[in-house]
Amino acid sequence: MQHILAPHPDDEVIGCYDILSQYNPEDIEIVYFNTSTITNDRYNRIRDFCIYYGFKHGSIIGNIIESLSKYMSRLDSSDVLHAPDPFHELHPFHKKIGSIVYYGRNNCEMNTCFYSTNMNAPYTYEVKTPASKKLMMDEFYDDQRSLWEYDHKYFLFEGHVRYLKPEEL
Ligand SMILES: [Zn+2]
Repeated sequence: MQHILAPHPDDEVIGCYDILSQYNPEDIEIVYFNTSTITNDRYNRIRDFCIYYGFKHGSIIGNIIESLSKYMSRLDSSDVLHAPDPFHELHPFHKKIGSIVYYGRNNCEMNTCFYSTNMNAPYTYEVKTPASKKLMMDEFYDDQRSLWEYDHKYFLFEGHVRYLKPEEL
């Protein structure tokens, strides 16, 4: 199962469109965060997005370090956890989520993969079907459209990287 952590509603498409389009929806779980900074409207959008496309979904509530660590401990070696890259992402909440996964993964069995849409990340590439990606973003996140209307990097690029655990070196 592919598990995608979305710090904000829309990060699952902006950061992981290629994952969403590569796997069957029933093999994907999108995990969002129910924090005070995310309004009910945005929360409903990501939930509706998951229901519409048939993705499994769940939310992390309460203390993020505790809840996310507990979530990670339930995953096994057949699972891949996709998290924002703590080193190349710019938003502090992305860095926080990414850091919890990066440093906590050594005690867990799942595989980890990190994503970034920051063009300064050395592994970003051009998305093959940016129009389809943009359509997916427009359909459920039209409230954020002004972001990518003038800044096409949101749907033109993404990147995925695996960092080795110390014992894999
Ligand atoms: Zn975000």
